[in-house]
Amino acid sequence: MKKPLMRIPYTGPLPPATIIPRYANTPAGARHALTRFLSAPKESQALASSSPGHDSKKTVILTGAGISVASGLADYRGTGGTYTLNRTYRPIYYNEFITNHEARKRYWARSFLGWTNLNRARPNAGHIAVKELGCMGFISNVITQNVDSFHSAAHPELPTIELHGYLRALVCIHCHSQLPRSDFQTSLATLNPQWAAFLEEMLATGALDSENPAERRAKGLKSNPDGDVDVPDAPYTTFRYPACPTCLANPPTLADGTQGFVEVDSDGAWSSNSNAGVLKPAVVMFGESIAPDIKNAAEEAINNAGRVLVIGSSLATYSAWRLVKQAKERNMPIGILNLGGVRGEENFYAGLSPSNDGEMGVRCEEKADEILPMVVNALRGSQALATAEMQQAVNI
Ligand SMILES: [Zn+2]
Repeated sequence: MKKPLMRIPYTGPLPPATIIPRYANTPAGARHALTRFLSAPKESQALASSSPGHDSKKTVILTGAGISVASGLADYRGTGGTYTLNRTYRPIYYNEFITNHEARKRYWARSFLGWTNLNRARPNAGHIAVKELGCMGFISNVITQNVDSFHSAAHPELPTIELHGYLRALVCIHCHSQLPRSDFQTSLATLNPQWAAFLEEMLATGALDSENPAERRAKGLKSNPDGDVDVPDAPYTTFRYPACPTCLANPPTLADGTQGFVEVDSDGAWSSNSNAGVLKPAVVMFGESIAPDIKNAAEEAINNAGRVLVIGSSLATYSAWRLVKQAKERNMPIGILNLGGVRGEENFYAGLSPSNDGEMGVRCEEKADEILPMVVNALRGSQALATAEMQQAVNI
């Protein structure tokens, strides 16, 4: 296989974090600082370029794979992350997926093995805490780099931007129609009975459970983020995947104006004689651009908030780092809750007053599913207190 031209950013460890404020290096300290950060009455410096929908009291949340680790999903750069444990791993590149039938077979075989557990995984206490913070009025938007759709599941009422798309659907690269991933899994099982039998066996032994890494290693399986399971030396080239049903029924006109055609074998598997009807997960693959409307919505979400809180991301991906840089340029207080270093973080906290008690910036390294519920409780307590005081004032 050819060496990829694009380098995956920051697969090595980033410099360790400096905790801000200094006392935020314990769970109680981090809870206090995060509580101060989220509930500070208003920004103490004028924000640049406020838009009409701007709400300076509210925080925009930006999450990465770290928030889903407690749901049993692999992350990239954490201590148990794929780039840390599985040094030869690299995600599929967009161009490779679009142009190479063999690469797609390999992708779908691994996705077929990983989907069941991914589909079973559920949002954790970190996602639920974000929902609670939203209900209490502290959050304006959530921007996530995650493709697991846990935010949309945990808080459908809170505006959420899925920066890198989602795995719950497929999109045809030719006619752009979408279909649910769960139906596709059934088609893959039908087209690949031997793989389906292997998957059944792996599921029965628990080898694919995230809680069972020893069993998984014993079977030689490698679980990676985004529902990818690698079985070294597996016969990926035998794997079959279906064609887009829309293109199959009505072959589309291609971008260059020529007629597309879709050929399938007797079972309905896509044939490499085709020039259309290729389905792709509705995620932004490595080397693929984020759709302009999504990119604009994320930028607007930053402009509409008074603060940004990063949860479970090292911001190694440019599109995420850039949003925090945008926040910094607007003088927005920045909070980061992440285990391990974050790209360029020292610049986000440059010039911060030593008397900052969390209102102007916070950096802590606690588990999101443990600390965020504590923050919710603390804020709920202070809200209840404020209500009681107001009632007392009214009664007087
Ligand atoms: Zn199609």
